[in-house]
Amino acid sequence: MLDRDNDLNAWDRDHFFHPSTHMGMHARGDTPRRVIVGGEGCHIVDATGKRSLDAFAGLYCVNVGYGRTEIADAIAEQARELAYYHAYVGHGTEASITLARMIIERAPEHMSRVYFGLSGSDANETNIKLIWYYNNILGRPEKKKIISRWRGYHGSGVMTGSLTGLSLFHANFDLPRAPILHTDAPYYFRREDRSMSEEHFSAHCAARLEEMILAEGPDTIAAFIGEPILGTGGIVPPPQGYWAAIQAVLKKYDILLVADEVVTGFGRLGTMFGSVHYGMEPDLITIAKGLTSAYAPLSGSIVSDRMWQVLVQGSDQLGPIGHGWTYSAHPICAAAGVANLKLIDEMGLVQNAGEVGAYFRAGLADALAGHANVGEVRGDGLMAAVEFVEDKDDRRFFDTARKVGPAVAAALLEQGVIGRAMPQGDILGFAPPLCLTRDEADVVIKAADKAVRAVLG
Ligand code: PLP
Repeated sequence: MLDRDNDLNAWDRDHFFHPSTHMGMHARGDTPRRVIVGGEGCHIVDATGKRSLDAFAGLYCVNVGYGRTEIADAIAEQARELAYYHAYVGHGTEASITLARMIIERAPEHMSRVYFGLSGSDANETNIKLIWYYNNILGRPEKKKIISRWRGYHGSGVMTGSLTGLSLFHANFDLPRAPILHTDAPYYFRREDRSMSEEHFSAHCAARLEEMILAEGPDTIAAFIGEPILGTGGIVPPPQGYWAAIQAVLKKYDILLVADEVVTGFGRLGTMFGSVHYGMEPDLITIAKGLTSAYAPLSGSIVSDRMWQVLVQGSDQLGPIGHGWTYSAHPICAAAGVANLKLIDEMGLVQNAGEVGAYFRAGLADALAGHANVGEVRGDGLMAAVEFVEDKDDRRFFDTARKVGPAVAAALLEQGVIGRAMPQGDILGFAPPLCLTRDEADVVIKAADKAVRAVLG
């Protein structure tokens, strides 16, 4: 009989090539066992029976929480009725068509159609192709460069890894590739000139963007991509006035805006979309994670009406669009999406994210902001981060060899709470399921406080 803990652990070390993992340490067994067997609400259970409060919702994706039978039943029913049919040449299923309608009903008013993919990365890959196609149809073959931001995260494919602005995802993979450019992160805490107000810093970011556009030639810049609030790059909310200032520059040079809402879509900031929360008017919106709460892999590119009209003109000239995945709009994933969006409404999770998010962030700041090594506690909605510094006055980084972020995350796990050591900088991130209660928020705050004091005194 299978010994779930020991056998799985041995097979895992010998056969499984894990993403974003220290390969050698894992294969040698130098990292803790991480075999997960179940979950309910905000908690997961591992093969040893240990229960942890998952304050990162997997990878900020299990928005409705674990163990929701409504979604499991919808998946099972769809698998029995029709496990697969493709979406090429106008084919649809009840689930995929219904989900498309539900997404457009929830999206900002000027959005028109949704193209389905499987992951955030492939949806951003689709976005880049649509942008290039769009400019070719408009007779602007030179307008192809995409501007992303340092610290942005948009996936880890060849193009999307290039869009990502984190060194770990570039180094030794020969990325970024042309024609991707990176402009400044809206990282107010790390601004060089500390006398700058948030508004002033936003204007500075917009001026730096404009400088780049002018240096490259506005006729060569097709689009700007950004997460409404930086996620994997450190959970950094935009400073006051940032999106208004950036959008004014983009409009001036007829540059498209892609809002990457893989994390913020479907409620995480207390609004259905982060674009609405920050007054963004994107031409494309990337969705994934919260679309199915990760019960099945599904993503989408939501296309604005303005872009859609040009794409239609393209197929009138050229024939069917030469872009598609076998699993686009997979009916099992779409059924999961329909059940998930219904559950978000029924459980009032968008509102809960806003309310419990504000409570959680205020409590975290109360507990930690006074600590000598806590440079900043920040966030928005149900996203929060604690940034650690060696010296608070000059915001000095710890020596990276000390791995302060991972040490605090490990100490937190010992308290039975999962946070995420963000990949660049000593930053502990939180993005719990949107069903988090105030009592659960209190548990996370208390554990974070203990973990920080255990590591940093
Ligand atoms: N975009 C954003 C904002 C993300 O946070 C992620 C993943 O974390 C992606 C894109 C890539 O999604 P995936 O990992 O599903 O390819």
